[in-house]
Amino acid sequence: MSTELEQRYRTLQQSIEQLAAQYGTPAPVLLAVSKKHPAESIRQLAELGHRQFGESYWQETEQKIAQLKDLDLEWHFIGPIQSNKTRPIAENMDWVHSVDRLKIAQRLNDQRPDALAPLNICLQVNLDGETSKSGAEIDQVGELAQAAAQLPKLQLRGLMCIPQRRADLSQQRETFAKLAQLQQQLIDNGLPLDTLSMGMSTDMEAAIAEGSTCLRIGTALFGERQKNVTNPS
Ligand SMILES: *Cc1c(COP(=O)(O)O)cnc(C)c1O
Repeated sequence: MSTELEQRYRTLQQSIEQLAAQYGTPAPVLLAVSKKHPAESIRQLAELGHRQFGESYWQETEQKIAQLKDLDLEWHFIGPIQSNKTRPIAENMDWVHSVDRLKIAQRLNDQRPDALAPLNICLQVNLDGETSKSGAEIDQVGELAQAAAQLPKLQLRGLMCIPQRRADLSQQRETFAKLAQLQQQLIDNGLPLDTLSMGMSTDMEAAIAEGSTCLRIGTALFGERQKNVTNPS
C-alpha cells in the first residue's frame, strides 16, 4: 500500500529529521492532529506504526475512540476545554496539552480514574497578549505550574503554545524562544519538565530550531481539514 497519506507521512518524518539534524537538536515527536479528518485516516497511519494522535473537539474524539478501540493508540487532547467536558477527557485521554487554569487542572485530577496512570498535561501559554484569549498569561504560569505539579493524578510535562501566524522564520523563532525560556525557568525552579509542545504545519522549522519536543501537525500530513467529519455511521 502506498497512499498519498503514507507518502506525506514519510516525507514529513524525513523533513523533521533533517531539520533536527540541521539545528543540532533531537527530533521531536510527531503528534498527528487528526481533528476533522476521518477515523479511517487514523487507521491508515496506525497501520504504518504511528500511535500519537491529537484531537480538539470532545464529541468528535469520543466517536473516533469508539471506532478505533481495537488499536493501541495514544490520544492527546489539544483543544479548548469546557468544565463540563473534563470528566470524559480525564477518563479517556493520555495527554492534555491545553490546560490553562487551575480549575481545569483540579477537575482533571479529581476525575482521573485511579486505575489509570496519571494524566500527562501541558500548560498552554498565551504568548501574544491581547490578541489571543486562550492560554495562561505569562506572569501566571509559574504559580499555575507549581500548583498543577502538586496534583497526584496529573503529571505535569511542560508547556504548549499556539502563536499568532507570522510568515517570517525569525519572528516565529522569537515567540517559540520565549516559551523555551519560560520552560527553562520552571525547570530551574525544580519542576522536572520534558515536553515543549510547539510547532504546527506552517511554523515547524522555527519550533524545531527552538527545541520543540512535540510538533502538532495536521494540514501538512492529512491535507485540508473537512468541514463536517462527525458523520455518525
Ligand atoms: C489544529 C491544530 C493544530 C494543527 O494545525 P495545522 O496547521 O493543521 O498543522 C495544532 N495544534 C492545535 C492546538 C490545533 O488546534
